[in-house]
Amino acid sequence: MYHKPVLKNRRTLLERAEKFISDIYFTDCNLRGRLYGDSHPLESLGSFMSSKRITFSEAQTQSFSPYKLGDSFGPTWWTCWFKAALKVPVSWTGKEVHLLWDSDGEAMVWRDGQPVQGLTKEGEKTSYVLSDCLTEEETHRLDIYVELACNGLFGAGQGSMIAAPDANRTFTVRKAELVVLNRDVRELLTDFDMLIDIVKVQSFFFETKASQKAKCKQFTFLSFFFLKELGESEQRSFQALFTVNEMVNVSNPADPNSFDKARALAHKFFSQRNGQSQHTAHAMGHCHIDSAWLWPYEETIRKCGRSWVTAIRLMEKNPEFVFTCSQAQQFEWVKSWYPGLFSEIQRYVKTGQFVPVGGTWVEMDGNLPSGESMVRQFLQGQRYFEQEFGKRCKEFWLPDTFGYSAQLPQIMQGCGISNFLTQKLSWNLVNTFPHSTFFWEGLDGSKVLTHFPPGNSYEMKGKVEDLVKTVQQNKDKGRANHSAVLFGFGDGGGGPTQLMLDRLRRVQDTDGLPKVHMSSPDKLFSQLWADSHLLCTWTGELFLELHNGTYTTQAQIKRGNRQCETLLHDVEMASSLAMCRDPTFQYPVVKLQELWRLLLLNQFHDVIPGSCIEMVVEDALRYYEDIKRAGAALLQDGLGGLMSKGEATGVFNSLPWERLEVLQIQDGHSKHDLALVRVPSIGVAPVQHTKPATPVCVAVQADGSVLMENGIVRAVVNKDGTLTSLCLISGNREAIPDGCGGNQFVMFDDVPLYWDAWDVMDYHLQTRKPVVEVLRSAHVLSSHELRGSVGFTLRISDESTVTQEIVMDSMCPYIKFNTQVDWAESHKFLKVEFPVRVRSPNATYEIQFGHLQRPTHRNTSWDWAKFEVWGHKWADLSEHNFGVALLNDCKYGYSVHKNTMTLSLLRAPKAPDANADMGTHNFTYAIMPHTGSFQDAAVIQCAYNLNYPLRLASCSPETAPWSAFSISPSSVILETVKQAEDKKGALVVRMYEAHGGGVTATLRMMLPVKEAWHCNLLEQIDTTKPAHVTEDGITLDFSPFQVRSLLLVVNA
Ligand SMILES: [Zn+2]
Repeated sequence: MYHKPVLKNRRTLLERAEKFISDIYFTDCNLRGRLYGDSHPLESLGSFMSSKRITFSEAQTQSFSPYKLGDSFGPTWWTCWFKAALKVPVSWTGKEVHLLWDSDGEAMVWRDGQPVQGLTKEGEKTSYVLSDCLTEEETHRLDIYVELACNGLFGAGQGSMIAAPDANRTFTVRKAELVVLNRDVRELLTDFDMLIDIVKVQSFFFETKASQKAKCKQFTFLSFFFLKELGESEQRSFQALFTVNEMVNVSNPADPNSFDKARALAHKFFSQRNGQSQHTAHAMGHCHIDSAWLWPYEETIRKCGRSWVTAIRLMEKNPEFVFTCSQAQQFEWVKSWYPGLFSEIQRYVKTGQFVPVGGTWVEMDGNLPSGESMVRQFLQGQRYFEQEFGKRCKEFWLPDTFGYSAQLPQIMQGCGISNFLTQKLSWNLVNTFPHSTFFWEGLDGSKVLTHFPPGNSYEMKGKVEDLVKTVQQNKDKGRANHSAVLFGFGDGGGGPTQLMLDRLRRVQDTDGLPKVHMSSPDKLFSQLWADSHLLCTWTGELFLELHNGTYTTQAQIKRGNRQCETLLHDVEMASSLAMCRDPTFQYPVVKLQELWRLLLLNQFHDVIPGSCIEMVVEDALRYYEDIKRAGAALLQDGLGGLMSKGEATGVFNSLPWERLEVLQIQDGHSKHDLALVRVPSIGVAPVQHTKPATPVCVAVQADGSVLMENGIVRAVVNKDGTLTSLCLISGNREAIPDGCGGNQFVMFDDVPLYWDAWDVMDYHLQTRKPVVEVLRSAHVLSSHELRGSVGFTLRISDESTVTQEIVMDSMCPYIKFNTQVDWAESHKFLKVEFPVRVRSPNATYEIQFGHLQRPTHRNTSWDWAKFEVWGHKWADLSEHNFGVALLNDCKYGYSVHKNTMTLSLLRAPKAPDANADMGTHNFTYAIMPHTGSFQDAAVIQCAYNLNYPLRLASCSPETAPWSAFSISPSSVILETVKQAEDKKGALVVRMYEAHGGGVTATLRMMLPVKEAWHCNLLEQIDTTKPAHVTEDGITLDFSPFQVRSLLLVVNA
């Protein structure tokens, strides 16, 4: 009698099983080779090329020429439309019939005039299911259209993914035919696939240790580190090994009747259940689609269509399948481009399978947008979700953004959101973030429950490795027993596949792996809230220790953002006041929404950071031009409604304090002139020349340097443009240390490790080279009593120069540096330095609706990892009773080390945009020494003044100065006045406490306010909280950095 040997040779058994399902080896006799049965050619296949992204109806009318498989077409970004005539053999009745499609590019299948499914080889979607089980009644003849975009899931990078796109790529269809899919083979393959992975993942550590080399290409170092802890689960690995080996023994690929026995073995293994304490993985389908990145906005629309229609097909077949989907803008695109698909989505939102998440217009950058922009991301997003789907999102969803402002928790809470999902801090280059599930406490003390899926991915594939990582990398073991597993191809779209669902279904409750629930964000966060009593709290910003170049890259985009934020602020302010003063004035609701949405779109997390291709930059800059053009016209309309018409010149101040500033006035004879103008808080005044207390004095000194003085500050400008002295006249306090020069331009080599547009590495600081070559030395440009200025030009390199105008205005406590750089560098970083006579362990940086401190020393790894940080309009370095502030009008990158304050100006990365930042740049920064604290010295107000120019308009000569709003004390800033979204004629007024100290403030209004209500950031009024309006105004209590909104009903 033959005794079947019992084998203990792990290697041969494992590899035998792998070969049994290999799509490369032994496909003539293995299981994989039996996946497809009969095949049948297409009746015909025709195609035509289109340079534009056209509609289906347009495509349908074109003439299709015969296409031969293997022929190439292109170039990149074009579209090839195919028309396929199919005839399914009658003998296939009862079979599962697919159209097999093997091509490059990203395709959409159209059937009966509707988009029905995406096809993308990179996203593992290579067949379209014509019928699950062909019936005799079904039509066997039909025409199918395939719209094939000539770009990959990740665009068309030449050589590497993030390289600039190859504009001349060609594309091919290698296979297009009808096939029978053997469902029983597919199912058995999935059983094998999962079991083999259990064998491999569970014993991974021992294997690599034995071979003493990292044989772990498919595993990250992080997973390697954690998987070693799985040693004790080794038993499960061997159980899987012997199961899978026996399954090969009993399976005969040629005899489907043998499959049941193998499947029963697999089933037995999978159904050995977990104990009650096991971790629960909340699996949710997801498809991260960057609204623009390595492809333009327009292609994203089609990516959404392809990915989402595919998700709908999966929902039809898998009623438990839940798909989470963010970004209102993408829903809006799909609504206008694919209305049929959008109705299906609305239907599945009702069933709870298609879950809109995030609550924002786009998944924006978490650092650079202003506070008001962040509010609008939620306002536009939440209102859209409410309008289209009847509900708002309960969670903020931002898995892929380069850091998170400390003000976000308050903004989330103000928009009805208490939960937050992200994971990007797993990319930290220096420090490991210590929590996976925790409370995140913002600047004002607001808290949100935050979850980082411990698998550190938002595009898992439903594999064993994903589940094991989720358990092992959970940094809150024992505190949080639930985690998200987001599965589906992402970044470039694609989304989940049936195979991923099949994998997860097998291991819902399998000993050795976490429990897997098909879940939703709601269910996950309810569970996390239920056990939240042990969770830790992280206070302050979530700073990403990577991608710090994104504060500076693509300077024109940053400038466009800042200028448009300012412009829309002014348009809303002027239009609101015009509405109150002139009953016939129509508030431009529709146009403002359109412009805001464009601005919000450009704040997407690969656009405003500058990490996108050149085509996206062109689109973004065009959108800014559109906003500026339309915004300027709206502003003139608003100012026209606000001021009585006439021949005189009036000035509009959109900021909540009186301003006394030097302005360039254009008089009736088109002659430019200067005037010192006083304008009340949020109000208007006619131009009336005011005499300065002290005239500006500019004098060339014997050594060629230029002395500038205005009674407040005195500066000495060296011939090379550096400041050898910057003195605060009252108190005779010098800001520049002996032997140093302020306004020192410096260049650095800027070659990161990989992510070119994204990263500036710590080592760039070792390559500092001062810019010293003078092309034109400092000379007096103007010496008016109201404004003195000095110009000079430096040579940066053979290719690049910087020309500057140093401007000192009368009555102004800061000196402005109007700068023009002609920039043609490669992998260089230009900054400007101000060494100052200040000693402090911390510098302060403005953020959204407030400010925060970061260290100026490098004590710990958490400190030195912040070698390049972001801030908004100003940064300040102060010791007791003295400090220096560095202001800017469109920059975001800063660093303050010891006593040197540095503003980051321009970079020159070459990927993914080979021409990033090449050309001429204009920007302004300013230096402001001060006594007292920066709060008392009005640094915050000065930075606003630098960014929000006084606006000129014609008015009648009788115009009297008029102020609509003022607020005291000055620590509370009235940031926004706009028409209420839901109440025509009512205003929303938003204020915040800017000094970081609790205070009772009074808002005064010169408008006939009938009622006043407290409201949240979504403008929902709290009917239990009317605001008490007295003759003095409205009294409001503020805690530090609190943002408050009022809804005012005004009698027009
Ligand atoms: Zn992304």
